[in-house]
Amino acid sequence: MSKNVNMIGAGLVGSLLSIYLAKKGYKVNIYERRPDMRTAKISAGKSINLALSDRGWRGLEGVGIADEIRKIAIPMYGRFIHHKDSSTAFQPYGKDNQAIYSVSRAEINMRLMDLAEQKGGVEIHFNERCTNINRQTLEAQFINEETQKTSSSKSDLIFGSDGAFAASRLNMQLSSDRFEYNQHYISAGYKELIIPPGKDGAFLIEKNALHIWPRGSFMMIALPNMDGNFTCTLFLPFEGEKSFANLKTREQVKKFFDEEFPDAVPLMPTLLDDFMNNPTSSLVTVKCFPWTFDNKIGLIGDAAHAIVPFFGQGMSCGFEDCVVMNELIEKHKEDWNRIMPEYETLRKPDGDAIADLAIANFIEMRDKTADPKFLLQKKIEARFNSKYPDKWIPLYSMVTYSPHIRYSTAFKRRATPRSHHAKNYGKA
Ligand SMILES: Cc1cc2nc3c(=O)[nH]c(=O)nc-3n(C[C@H](O)[C@H](O)[C@H](O)COP(=O)(O)OP(=O)(O)OC[C@H]3O[C@@H](n4cnc5c(N)ncnc54)[C@H](O)[C@@H]3O)c2cc1C
Repeated sequence: MSKNVNMIGAGLVGSLLSIYLAKKGYKVNIYERRPDMRTAKISAGKSINLALSDRGWRGLEGVGIADEIRKIAIPMYGRFIHHKDSSTAFQPYGKDNQAIYSVSRAEINMRLMDLAEQKGGVEIHFNERCTNINRQTLEAQFINEETQKTSSSKSDLIFGSDGAFAASRLNMQLSSDRFEYNQHYISAGYKELIIPPGKDGAFLIEKNALHIWPRGSFMMIALPNMDGNFTCTLFLPFEGEKSFANLKTREQVKKFFDEEFPDAVPLMPTLLDDFMNNPTSSLVTVKCFPWTFDNKIGLIGDAAHAIVPFFGQGMSCGFEDCVVMNELIEKHKEDWNRIMPEYETLRKPDGDAIADLAIANFIEMRDKTADPKFLLQKKIEARFNSKYPDKWIPLYSMVTYSPHIRYSTAFKRRATPRSHHAKNYGKA
């Protein structure tokens, strides 16, 4: 077969998938709505840094980029809890120094695009927003965001990697009978704030941890950046007593932060300006099916399964899609009539599982991490697991450190200690 692929969206997942496909000899063109962030100096638009864990690393290792990303990744060995009375506690994430890693979204995205172009011969067309996909002719249409010029391109395969609000998905929805679609906004939104570095770039709070200020119905978290900054994210209900709706003036914001996060306020000199200037964004879960159409068009990453960020797995899940796709290309010897159906059959339950786990983890992070009983439970779990590692693995470890256990398997086994063995894809 001919091997021309058009991809919609050069975000994290589209860029990575293009490298996998290029390595298999496919000619990939990516059409990206935004300007080239390597030259245009634009912000990635949402969350400056992300937590990367083992499933994500596996995706990067598959195309030989993991070592390069490791250079810009900060290990976080546990949760550093900040209580309201300014006391603190540290909860390790796993055993033997297991960590998740804070990485810059823009940095990974730029390196993936570099690698796609340099090593894969992938062509990325910037400022090109996809407006339509013709399912019959496989012709995709674009409008240039700068010139408003329209264009179109035909290919043998199309991947929609255009994120949570994918135009590719909407197109498939409109052209399909019985397309399942579910979109759910949680009642909380988020706003990004900053703790800048101290003198000579010093980290003002523990560098190698994910910081959480759990406050019951809301929380703030902070992840370290290479330059000594911490990106803080306040997750807060849109409405209600303690909510974004009630933080309209600088005085209200100051009072709220002084009361709720007294140890953080002295470290946030630009807090009030940041709060007033930075956007308040919403958090959505998208579940849909099918993910493939006529065995020629596929949805991948957030386009197929957007999840809330509380398990830190959205990007890693998308990278795992690429690993699975690559395995299926090899297994079915590039027979897309077999690859596409197996891809969606395998991955849909995993996408659904991590979506539900991510919602549940919001409650754990914002509420339970402040509870001494929860801390004790985690200690007991860790002790049990270290004594009987083949009998039971804590949920967090299954999701974060066990890339050979499917998300759907982790979901089924959560909180049910019983004997099991890690299963590989295809066998589970
Ligand atoms: C606040 C927040 C925190 C997060 N934290 C984490 C975390 O800690 N760990 C983690 O693993 N994940 C995290 N995530 C999730 C993660 O950001 C996503 O899962 C990941 O970005 C998905 O990658 P993607 O390539 O599928 O989509 P995106 O990264 O959204 O990329 C989609 C690309 O498509 C382009 N595009 C969109 N529409 C069009 C169009 N019509 N035509 C052409 N191009 C188009 C966009 O410009 C973009 O470049 C977080 C998300 C949020 C919102």
